[in-house]
Amino acid sequence: MSAPPACRCCGGTAVTLRGRKQGAFLPREFEFHVCGDCGFMSVEPFSGFAIYDDAYYRGAGPDPYVDYETEYRDWRRTDRGLEFEDLFSLAESHLSPSPSLPLRLLDFGCGAGGFLKFLRERGTLGGRPLELTGHDIGSYAEMLKTRDGFRILDLDALALEPAASFDVISLIEVIEHLPSPLEPMRLVARLLKPGGLLLLTTGNLDSPVARREGLGYRYCAPEIHVSLFNPRALSRLYARVGLVPHAVRYHGAVKFKVLKTLRHRPALRALARLALSFPPVVRFIDARYGVSAMPCAIKPQGPNLQTPKNPQ
Ligand SMILES: [Zn+2]
Repeated sequence: MSAPPACRCCGGTAVTLRGRKQGAFLPREFEFHVCGDCGFMSVEPFSGFAIYDDAYYRGAGPDPYVDYETEYRDWRRTDRGLEFEDLFSLAESHLSPSPSLPLRLLDFGCGAGGFLKFLRERGTLGGRPLELTGHDIGSYAEMLKTRDGFRILDLDALALEPAASFDVISLIEVIEHLPSPLEPMRLVARLLKPGGLLLLTTGNLDSPVARREGLGYRYCAPEIHVSLFNPRALSRLYARVGLVPHAVRYHGAVKFKVLKTLRHRPALRALARLALSFPPVVRFIDARYGVSAMPCAIKPQGPNLQTPKNPQ
């Protein structure tokens, strides 16, 4: 094996081999490289995007909790609404109401379109009419465009959008799938309006559970989760593209993370739902998995913008 490359998050060169792990889905060994500066971990080799086929979307691939079929048909039949409500409230509390202006929102990695449909049903955010755009590739993106009438752009089309096009951009459990997160983040930072909000969720590899379980942590699924973050690494990545970390407090997103793993265990899921109706239980799980410790980001207002001049 050749020497590990520079850190794809902070650009540092103190990258070392953290360990190896056998794939649970693909019968081969993967290497995890960790950055001594920011703690970002990357996986080699990258299994490619072809792994995201129809079987994957049914939950028959490396991630058994994916259920795009149900989500596409009716997101209410999944637990994702809990997460959507959370993200909606975050955006609502951040944005200043200016009722006459439409609010432009991009869901980057929109998957089966659950969040887009949730937002379309809401119609407005903070009193402002929503204008929705999605980005993804594959059969669901095509259906969202042709059957559901959403504006769905591929990466090339997105790169042609004018700078400062969106008030809110969401990346919900997307960045861990991208082998080189810097370029997409540069694009996202360019597309955000000054003062705009980036809603980003991804696993926290610095959480107590992740630290205890090491590479055995379920989130370390090397076929699909190839960029693994912690709060420090994520903040470094934001800074590199001119964004400022924005602290958040999740509730519904925490509940969703628990409930989705119980998709095939209805009795346990009902019990968990009951337990999660108690806020201290949610706070305990949040602390164990470090969900709210992962910041979102804001694009700063004013002349001191550090937005990259060459987004490509
Ligand atoms: Zn780094």
